Amino acid sequence: MKINIIGGGPAGLYFAILMKNQDSSHEISIAERDGPNDTFGWGIVFSDQTFSYLEDNDPTSCQQITGNCEIWDNVDIVHKDQKVTIRGNRFSGIGRLKFLNILHERCRDLDVDLRFRTNVEDVSRYRDCDLLVGADGAGSLLRHTYRDFFEPSVDLRKNKYIWLGTNQLFHGLTLTFRTNRDGYFIAHSYKFNKTTSTFIVECNEATWRKAGFDSKSEAETCEYLQHVFDADLRERPLLTNNFVRWINFPLIRNQHWWHENIVLLGDALHTAHFSIGSGTKMALEDSIALAKCFADESDVTAALGAFERARRPLVESLQDAASASLLLLENIHDDWHLEPLPFAYKMMTRSGRITHEKLKRRDPDFVAAYEDWLRIAGCGLRIAD
Ligand SMILES: Cc1cc2nc3c(=O)[nH]c(=O)nc-3n(C[C@H](O)[C@H](O)[C@H](O)COP(=O)(O)OP(=O)(O)OC[C@H]3O[C@@H](n4cnc5c(N)ncnc54)[C@H](O)[C@@H]3O)c2cc1C
Repeated sequence: MKINIIGGGPAGLYFAILMKNQDSSHEISIAERDGPNDTFGWGIVFSDQTFSYLEDNDPTSCQQITGNCEIWDNVDIVHKDQKVTIRGNRFSGIGRLKFLNILHERCRDLDVDLRFRTNVEDVSRYRDCDLLVGADGAGSLLRHTYRDFFEPSVDLRKNKYIWLGTNQLFHGLTLTFRTNRDGYFIAHSYKFNKTTSTFIVECNEATWRKAGFDSKSEAETCEYLQHVFDADLRERPLLTNNFVRWINFPLIRNQHWWHENIVLLGDALHTAHFSIGSGTKMALEDSIALAKCFADESDVTAALGAFERARRPLVESLQDAASASLLLLENIHDDWHLEPLPFAYKMMTRSGRITHEKLKRRDPDFVAAYEDWLRIAGCGLRIAD
């Protein structure tokens, strides 16, 4: 098969690897706009109990990925200057660049034609193939070009966020809630190697305007946020890399997932808010599902139909969970009055995926403390279904 892939992010690279593993005679090319060492962001987090889905599909890259991960099992929620720790939640963090470099090397070993610094401006030039894959991220040109077929919806969410780094190490997935005279701020932080943590800050539009971020330079933005999170960063500066800017999260869905021999994968197809840390996992799982459909079915349209049937319900369920989390964070001022313990409980159960019973299995002490609080305080809060 001749396969053209637009976009060399996690989805495109991993799909190429899996197809080559299946049949080394596939001719696979990837057009990637950036160079091998340019990337946005800092580290990514996998909200996984296990990496078995990577181990089963490409043990070579899996070994390297897990070997470079920082692993922890606690979520820390900092609210009203108090930290509540919830155990039993296994996460793994890895530098995004390290992760991509591992997949690049694997592609090279498998003879994938990986073309860096190739910005696709006209997708029709890539149509001469058996399968054209749009793995070109949230702003997908392929999706836009064939929008009449895919019928995408792109919902720009209300909060603004910025992806920063710091050498302050956050040992655990840490959600920090701080306020000042301008409004409410939320930081999502976690270490992803021995020296660096990701530090994503989000805030609502009113806070963002009042703080004057629309006219602040990169350095002024970091300095301002440094003050907001002074107690957490402990004088370690916030770091920027290329492409740092405030963004409104785009919630992407597509009415149709494929057209003729063209298919979308990863963020081009769907996004899930970063607060549940599943974007990369979803991109990899798409690639696994699509490759599996081609293992079972050689006819392209039959394979693409099977891919959508198998994957759509899972994706939509995860998007629903991510949207519940996103909405709660957009309306965080409604819950700000809560004491640290019930606040932490609400945060842990916000996506609807972690029930009271599940949380109890993960951290019985935390749940017991919450139940005690509930008995004493009551006040209308309840146990998550
Ligand atoms: C702030 C933030 C934090 C996140 N945190 C996490 C996290 O902790 N854990 C997690 O799992 N996920 C996280 N994600 C999500 C994750 O980054 C994405 O879901 C994941 O990278 C999707 O992979 P992808 O391959 O579909 O798209 P991308 O990673 O976006 O890759 C698309 C690639 O296509 C290339 N491209 C685009 N257009 C063209 C073109 N015209 N020509 C050639 N190349 C092109 C781009 O350069 C890019 O390399 C986060 C995202 C954001 C925004």
